[in-house]
Amino acid sequence: MAGMDLNEFHWLLAIVQSIDVGVVVLDREYRVEVWNSFMENRSGRTAHDAVQKSFFSLFPEVEEPWFRHKVESVVTLGTPAFTIWEQRPYLVRFKNYQPITGQEEFMYQNTTILPLQATNSVVEHVCLIIYDVTNVAVNKHQLQSANDQLKHLSRTDRLTGLNNRGHWEEELKREYSRHRRYGSTAALVMFDIDHFKKVNDTYGHQAGDKVIQAVADVVRKEARDTDIAGRYGGEEFVILLPDVDSAGARLFAERLRQKTEALQVDYDGQLIPFTISLGVADLTQSSNDHQQLIEWADHALYQSKRNGRNQVSVHGA
Ligand code: GH3
Ligand code: MG
Ligand code: MG
Repeated sequence: MAGMDLNEFHWLLAIVQSIDVGVVVLDREYRVEVWNSFMENRSGRTAHDAVQKSFFSLFPEVEEPWFRHKVESVVTLGTPAFTIWEQRPYLVRFKNYQPITGQEEFMYQNTTILPLQATNSVVEHVCLIIYDVTNVAVNKHQLQSANDQLKHLSRTDRLTGLNNRGHWEEELKREYSRHRRYGSTAALVMFDIDHFKKVNDTYGHQAGDKVIQAVADVVRKEARDTDIAGRYGGEEFVILLPDVDSAGARLFAERLRQKTEALQVDYDGQLIPFTISLGVADLTQSSNDHQQLIEWADHALYQSKRNGRNQVSVHGA
């Protein structure tokens, strides 16, 4: 601090004490020389307690080889280095005390490691500046989760929680291009509730809704994680079975049919029985586009209806 009088030195100290960032000066042995009041408040250790202690003994959570490497390059190059919360949430673990952002357990930090040159221009110390960026991290996390929720909502059918038609078709297109590129197969099960108009007419629209939800529950329970189920229309459903052919899909469809037949939906004490008609198709025959699989399954479904409902038909069988 050549050329600086004692007053200015005291002012600088007062500033370092009062700013709302952590300031730590380390010597070349990683011993603490300066520890400002931010560090006192957040660590619970007074400067008196921290000074002369090893940085690594004060903060055992710091990965020593990594930090040494970082500091040594700052010293050698004479240029600052940084850590950012997106890559490393914090340098030293402090509890998060901010009331608004209380949902985060710890303080997110950006840090700067500054080389401090002595008058002989040799770097004998480094200064750590620690910024509390918890607010930034919380905002980003909240935005992210709001976006995720919006995305989920935009893909989901409200009544059943299954994929809506738009998103389901996107998934079908994706599976179809996988089929085109790698020759993988896939099967489609499409079904429609039998005489559903009568359910609505007899028990009311709300009872009808409950039946639709019950069917969706059966689908969810019977499908595998890799299957992609969607509500295709009012009381029409689709399940795409990746890497499955018609024979496998028929078994799955038959299971759905039986589970549904055995189910009675309780609406205000009235038990509503109902059945479904199903159509199955797969990609083992040559096809022009993803729409064709839908058409085939739809034809098979229509055949099930014509043949008396409550049954499974396979396209081309
Ligand atoms: P089929 O055996 O030939 O399929 O006879 P169906 O009576 O089921 O005939 P269709 O499939 O044409 O009827 C569909 C009915 O489903 C008509 C419509 O009012 C009803 N529907 C469509 N969406 C909903 C819904 O979200 N909730 C309720 N409750 N009813 C719906
Ligand atoms: Mg229908
Ligand atoms: Mg119907």
